[in-house]
Amino acid sequence: MADPPLPDLLSLEPDELHQALLRHFEGRGQPGYRAGQVQRWIYEGLARTPEEMTDLPAPERAALGEAFRLDEPAEERLSESRDGTVKHLWRLSDGHLVESVLIPTERRLTLCISSQAGCAMGCTFCATGWGGFDRQLTPGEIVGQYRASRRWVEGRDLGTVTNLVFMGMGEPLANRGALHPALTILNQGYRVGARRITVSTVGVVPGILELAERPEQFRLALSLHAPDPELRRGLIPLEKRYPLPQVMSALRRFDEAGGKRITFEYTLIRGVNDAMELVPPLADLAREVGAFVNLIPFNPIPYQDWRPSPAERIRAFAAGLEARGVEAAVRETRGRDIEAACGQLRAQVLVQMGKGRSG
Ligand code: SF4
Repeated sequence: MADPPLPDLLSLEPDELHQALLRHFEGRGQPGYRAGQVQRWIYEGLARTPEEMTDLPAPERAALGEAFRLDEPAEERLSESRDGTVKHLWRLSDGHLVESVLIPTERRLTLCISSQAGCAMGCTFCATGWGGFDRQLTPGEIVGQYRASRRWVEGRDLGTVTNLVFMGMGEPLANRGALHPALTILNQGYRVGARRITVSTVGVVPGILELAERPEQFRLALSLHAPDPELRRGLIPLEKRYPLPQVMSALRRFDEAGGKRITFEYTLIRGVNDAMELVPPLADLAREVGAFVNLIPFNPIPYQDWRPSPAERIRAFAAGLEARGVEAAVRETRGRDIEAACGQLRAQVLVQMGKGRSG
C-alpha cells in the first residue's frame, strides 16, 4: 500500500499547524520556539521550501522537508492586460490547471482565486462551466494562489494584495471542506481581514447558512443574474435544486447575523436578462437583504453567441435600481484583452489540448 501523503504545511489551520510543528520538533529534541519560527516563515516570509527558513539549523530544515509537504501551485502561464489586470494560470502538483486574477483599482489590489479545478455547476454564461469539473482544491492549493500572487506583486513593488474574492474557477460553497479551513488560514494566519474576503456563490443554501454561523464578518456575493426563478434556471442550473425563495431565506439569515455585507452580481446579457421590467423585482430582492448590486457587462465566451447589453441599457438598469433606493455600480470589464473572465484562460488551454465540452 502507498504511504499516506505527508501533512501539508499550507493546508493546516494555524492552531493545527502549531501543534503539528510542536510535536515534530519536540520529537526531535528541539525547543518549542522552532514551531513559531516555521510559522513566521510560512505566514510572513511566504517561504516556498524549508531551505528558505534560514534561521533553522540545516538538519532541521532537512527534517522538516521529510516530515511535511509545502507545494504551492507553479506558474504555467501569465498574461498582463493593458489595464493592469494580471492573470495567472497555475499548475497544481498533479497537473490540473487553475486561474487567479489580480485586479488593481485606485486604492485596492483585489485577488480573485479559484476553489475548484473546473466546476460542476454548468452555468450557461461561464467558460469554467464549459470546461467541466476536474477536482476539489485543498485548502493549501487555495491559499497557495494567494501566497504565490502576493510574492509576485511584492517582488515588483506593486504594493500588496488587499482584498480577496472567491470568484475564480469553481463554486466555493461546493468545496466547503477546503473553503472553511482556507478562510481561517487566510484570516488568522496571513492576517487578511474578514471584511476584505468575499465568498461568491450561485446559491448553495447549506453553505450560505454555514457562513452565516461563522463569527467572522466574511462578505458574501450571490451570483443572481435574474430576479425571476424561471429565467434564472436557464442561466444557473442550481436554481432547480435551491430555488430563489430558499436562497433568499438563507440570505436573510446571513444578513440577520449582523455586519455581514451582501452583494448581488448581475451579468447583463443582451436580450436575455436585461429587460427593464426586471428592475423592480431585482430592486425588491436587493432591498430585502440590504444588498449592493454589481452590474457586469457579459464577457463573450467562445461557444455562446450571446452579447453584452448595450452600455445605455446597463446605465438605465443602474439608474432604475438607484431610483428604488438600491445601491448599484457598473463593474467595468477588466482584462478583456487577456481573457480575464472566469475560466477563460483555462478554457483556451483545454481547447488547445483538445479537451472540454463541444457546443
Ligand atoms: S459561474 Fe461559477 S458556479 Fe457557475 S459554472 Fe462558472 S465557476 Fe461554476
